[in-house]
This record gives sequence, C-alpha cells and structure tokens, in this order.
Amino acid sequence: MANTTYPELRWLDGELAELERRSLRRGLRDRTGGQGAHIVLGGRPVVNFGSNDYLNLAADPRLAQAIAEAARREGVGSGASPLICGHAVPHVELEHALAEFEGTEAALVFPSGFAANSGTIAALAGPGDLVLADRKSHASLLDGCRLSRADFRVFPHNDPARLDTLLRRAAHARRRLVVTDTLFSMDGDLAELAELADVCRRHGAMLLADEAHATGVFGAQGRGVAEEAGVEDRVSARVGTLSKALGCAGGFVAGSQSLIDWLVNRARPYVFSTAMPAPVAAAARAALDVVRAEREPRRRLLDRAGALRGRLKAFGWDVGASASQIIPVVVGDPGRAVALAGKLLEQGLFVPAVRPPTVPEGESCLRISLTAGHDDAMIDRLLAAMGAPFSPSGPPSGSASGPAPPCSEGDPHPSRG
Ligand SMILES: *Cc1c(COP(=O)(O)O)cnc(C)c1O
Repeated sequence: MANTTYPELRWLDGELAELERRSLRRGLRDRTGGQGAHIVLGGRPVVNFGSNDYLNLAADPRLAQAIAEAARREGVGSGASPLICGHAVPHVELEHALAEFEGTEAALVFPSGFAANSGTIAALAGPGDLVLADRKSHASLLDGCRLSRADFRVFPHNDPARLDTLLRRAAHARRRLVVTDTLFSMDGDLAELAELADVCRRHGAMLLADEAHATGVFGAQGRGVAEEAGVEDRVSARVGTLSKALGCAGGFVAGSQSLIDWLVNRARPYVFSTAMPAPVAAAARAALDVVRAEREPRRRLLDRAGALRGRLKAFGWDVGASASQIIPVVVGDPGRAVALAGKLLEQGLFVPAVRPPTVPEGESCLRISLTAGHDDAMIDRLLAAMGAPFSPSGPPSGSASGPAPPCSEGDPHPSRG
C-alpha cells in the first residue's frame, strides 16, 4: 500500500517490498477457535505445533477460574507502577510462591519476560563493566546488554572455553556479567550451564540464566535447566517467564533478597511500567500450583520429544542439537522453509517457518514446538506429512527418507473439519 498520507514514510513501502522479495516478509495470522493443540489459524483448523504453551495450561479451567475470581476482587488494571500503588496482594503471593518454588530468598514479577531480561541486565551492568552473551541469546538478553552501556561482546554459541579466554582478557573491567538462555529458543539445545557456571565462578563474574523455555519443563521439580544441571546456587540471577509453560503472561527474576531489592530500585521496566494486572498474577500462582503437583506431564513431554526427534532424524531431517521439546527442522533457505510450512498447513498442520532475523542467515527452519496437549495421533500425522516427499524441496539428498511412517490414525490426510 503506497503511503500517500504520510509521504515521509514512503521509504517503508520499498523496504517491505524488499522483504517480500527475499521471502522474509512476515504478517499476522489471526487465531480463532480458542487455545491449545487444536486452533483455527487464518480461518483454517490446524493442529498447533507453534505454541510455547508447553504444559497446555493456557486454556486450563483452573487458571481461568483463578483469573476470573481475582478480576472480580481486584479489578483488571493495576493502575500504577509497583513502587507507587500497583503492587497488590496477588503480586505478593505470586512472588512468595515463586521464591518458594525456585528455592531462592526472593523473586520479583515483571510485566513480561522481555522486560525481566532487559531490565535486569541493565540494572546489573553499566559503563565500565563488561557483559558477555552467548551469540544465540534471546533478543531480550541482547537488547539488555546494549541498553546497559557496558562493554558488550558475544561469545560463540555454547563455548565456555572461549568465554574463559574473554573473561581472562577483561580483568580490567569493574564488574563482569555473563548472560545466556538455558534452553535456546530456536535451536532447542541446552546451555553448557555447569561449565559456564564454573568459568564465571573462577573469574568472579555474575551469571544470568534465562530459563524462559525451561521453567515448568526441565528439572525434577520443574525449575529448569539449572536445577537439572545442579548449579542453581551458582546462577546469580535466574530469569523465567510466566508466558510459556505456565500459560499466563509476565516474567520473573529469582535470586537473593539484595538482588531483588536492587531491581526494585534500578530495573527501569519494573520501575516505569504499570504492574502486571493482578488477576494475571493470581492465574500464574494457580499455574505454579499445577506444576508443583503434577510431574508426569513434563516427563512425558520430554519423552515424546525425544522419540519425535529420533524419527525425524531417521527420515533424514536435520534437527540440529535439539535436546528438548523445541525441535527445529533446519532447511537453510528461507523460501524453502516457507514452502515446507505451506505444504504442512495444507494438511492441517501448523509448524511455523523461522527465518532471519530470528535465526542467522542460512539457518531457516521449521520450528516444531511440542506440548502436553499433543497426543500420539497428532505426532504421527506430523511425521506422516514430514515423511512424504516434498518435491522439489524434499529431505536432503542422500537421506534415509523412505516411505511415509506408520500413522496410528491410518489417515495421513484427515479432513479439516
Ligand atoms: C519468550 C522469551 C522471552 C520473553 O518472555 P515473554 O514473557 O514472552 O516476554 C525471554 N527469553 C527467551 C529465551 C524467550 O524465548
């Protein structure tokens, strides 16, 4: 659409056309028909492999009840930032529950995980300090590093030895902060957290670990990869989100009381944003109760993910280093990723194509996100579709792709009714 009303914005039309030409233009597809493994996307009923609702809690009636009751009691909006008068009883209760869950002295709830990451990093590092981030860290971590105005470098993905070198060379920095995802959001692989924690401890560096995709999924108690790796006491600031496995919205930081006190004073998105709606905090506490009470869903989810990865690999697909419920099918070219996603969509299977700038050039993929809402029949349908030849862009040549795998429903092309 040409910009006639705003001639000063005409340059946008050229930029958007260029994105289109490179298969990089993205647009919104509206979701209707509720939430969960079955959704209606852009008017089409699909099995949803694109959601981070890993424990299938987003539409859970227990959460809906908690939010409705709290809304009647507390109202909807918080009215002010937490330091003015926006911090209500549901926030206090959620923060206590989170600290108890995480086994830390304290916890603090932010309006989003993005705000928790960017705000915490910028509160912990400043001019004269050094921040080091894994190259594949989430945008909210990288933006926090930039916002901090500290000296900011990235280290190669999952390379504690290189991090060690960078820290050794930076002995002059006033303070040092290392940040990383614990479960990488696009690759589905895990950080070498024990090694990273060792390196940080050796250099007296702070370590911020973002458990956004791991909270509720990894660890015996569901606390994440740091729990699984047994290094929780060596992570200076644990960030999690309430918006993924917990099915709500918001982010949190768990750690020492002094860390939380500092963030209350210095984390700009906390200080200058209106507090998360209190009913959302009430729903998040209900979600936390579910995670604490039910271990089986997370165990089963990771078992199923392992089986799915194995079968995709047997078809010759490249699932990278995935070790989780996030399974990328790496195809390289963005046009090919979009074409593949389109073929799957025609069969009623929604698997988003992920392209630059979300992933580096040459690493475009289909990102399969498995949740507790998927049953074996849905997974078999996906496998049947992925096993069928996608001419001209089928699995890599020389692959082990054979006939379509068995499909428990006996119907690889079920009607889309
Ligand atoms: C989604 C995500 C966030 C942001 O969390 P929101 O609550 O959605 O803002 C932070 N870090 C990582 C790794 C994420 O994937």
